Amino acid sequence: MMQATESRATDTLTTAANTQSFAQGRVNIVVVGGGSAGWLTAALLAADHQTNPLVTISLIESATVPTIGVGEGTWPSMRATLARIGISETEFIIRCDASFKQGSVFRQWRSAVPQDCYYHPFTAPVAANELDIAEHWFSHHQQVEFAPAVSSQPAVIAAGLAPKRIATPEYAFLQNYGYHLDAGKFVTLLSEHAKRLGVKHIIDDVVAVHSHTDGRIAALQTLQHGALTGDLFVDCSGLQSLLLGKHYQTPLISVQHCLLNDSAMAVQVAYEDEHAPIASATLATAQAQGWVWDIGLPTRRGVGFVHHSGHTNEQQALATLAQYLHLSEREFSSHYQPKLIRFTPGYRQQFWRHNCVAVGMAAGFIEPLEASALVMVELSAKFISEQLPRSLAQLAIVSQRFNQTFSYRWQQIVEFLKLHYVLSTRDDSEYWLAQRAEGSIPSSLQEKLLMWHQFMPSRYDLPMAEELFPAASYQYILYGMRHLPGCGRPITPGSALRANQAFAEVQQKTQQLRAGLVSNRELLNQIKAHGLQKI
Ligand SMILES: Cc1cc2nc3c(=O)[nH]c(=O)nc-3n(C[C@H](O)[C@H](O)[C@H](O)COP(=O)(O)OP(=O)(O)OC[C@H]3O[C@@H](n4cnc5c(N)ncnc54)[C@H](O)[C@@H]3O)c2cc1C
Repeated sequence: MMQATESRATDTLTTAANTQSFAQGRVNIVVVGGGSAGWLTAALLAADHQTNPLVTISLIESATVPTIGVGEGTWPSMRATLARIGISETEFIIRCDASFKQGSVFRQWRSAVPQDCYYHPFTAPVAANELDIAEHWFSHHQQVEFAPAVSSQPAVIAAGLAPKRIATPEYAFLQNYGYHLDAGKFVTLLSEHAKRLGVKHIIDDVVAVHSHTDGRIAALQTLQHGALTGDLFVDCSGLQSLLLGKHYQTPLISVQHCLLNDSAMAVQVAYEDEHAPIASATLATAQAQGWVWDIGLPTRRGVGFVHHSGHTNEQQALATLAQYLHLSEREFSSHYQPKLIRFTPGYRQQFWRHNCVAVGMAAGFIEPLEASALVMVELSAKFISEQLPRSLAQLAIVSQRFNQTFSYRWQQIVEFLKLHYVLSTRDDSEYWLAQRAEGSIPSSLQEKLLMWHQFMPSRYDLPMAEELFPAASYQYILYGMRHLPGCGRPITPGSALRANQAFAEVQQKTQQLRAGLVSNRELLNQIKAHGLQKI
């Protein structure tokens, strides 16, 4: 049981520690939790500060509390993060059973018709820096869908092709990509690498918190290693939210009134044989009561049904997964031991309190549509590392900035995920009606939708310099779901000429890529045999 200790011994520690925090610019960082969030954060901090002997990092994890063990789809940002940490892409791909993810394919989200499908690719629309190609696509929308008109990537995904060639150097690309990976293997690789970078690894349970008189954490009491002191504590303890939630009692802002899903049932599925194609994107297939993710790793698929416990019980969830995998319920039960995960969709009211910042599930979690959790870990770790406070005065400023930035980002995630449901015309269940009930739509999204009846998503809607979801992401979803504005801005003859060239470039590039790229599986086999060229 977690508790803040107020013993005399703690008081003594308090007085001494108060004067010594950040002494002579030293920063002693203690990360709690050894899941993807803990090890990614520790590794990034260690890589960035490895030449600074004043910064020390330790990571404590429990031997008995397991990691969540899912979280297998990343954004393209992971390439830059891994390169920054100093991990070779070849080693990462081989060790983590990783494959290439070039975006998401949304099936049956507009309607329950089996052919219904649209793409959210990772590559930005063509000529994005010169003009807004969507304006020019409107007049062709009867003939061609938005994503394939403005990007070659949907065709590459549809053909199951890789986003690069064996001669393309590590982390470079022909089509933008992230990864599908094995979460357990990823944690092992990260931990080994972080330890090489100097992170001290402690296996023990945190059982209590010693506080300074001003509310900062002075030390964490462990079962076997005594009290671990620190200047900055990073709470990566997962859904337990040991420090931010339990110790600081920071409320979780539930968003379940807006995004219903609170459960996922996951299984690992074997391929028919070792040559079976590996999908180049996450397949997200809407169901009457939720949606199924299907991601392809080199050695297996990861499949999971995301749903709302109020609309679907365990048996019904099992039946949905069985049906998705074309199995009878009996066959399904004899083949698989599905893992049921429950969560409250939401995020903490604040993420950084005093000298404690939460990263990963400890900060919040909202269903995995668009796989936005690991990118939030990467962004949080980068922020902490780049703004690492060296004094109590800086600590106060950085924590305020962090809270502002990440509150905005969580709100944007809620809004962006909700968009997927709001635009659906599915009415085959109470679930879909509830997911788009008017009272469940955030007012910020309602305002944007009102503007988007007329205008396209633009910087006026998304003013931050580093938006999590830029205007192009909104366009892919809005126009993929066939939510078109009444009329665009006037088109100038010059821009129309450039737009027509750009559409032709997409066609030409699509042909070249189709001819020049091997399949996802073939490239992964080549990487295993020869490795990618180091940068
Ligand atoms: C169904 C589902 C699907 C998901 N899919 C995606 C996806 O596709 N893409 C994506 O980006 N994210 C996804 N996520 C989220 C992703 O799994 C997590 O963000 C990621 O794994 C990070 O988890 P974590 O490290 O915060 O927590 P955990 O993995 O739960 O780790 C918690 C750690 O804290 C330690 N701990 C707990 N209590 C103590 C204690 N008292 N003392 C010491 N240590 C302690 C544990 O031992 C463990 O090491 C998904 C999540 C779910 C639930």
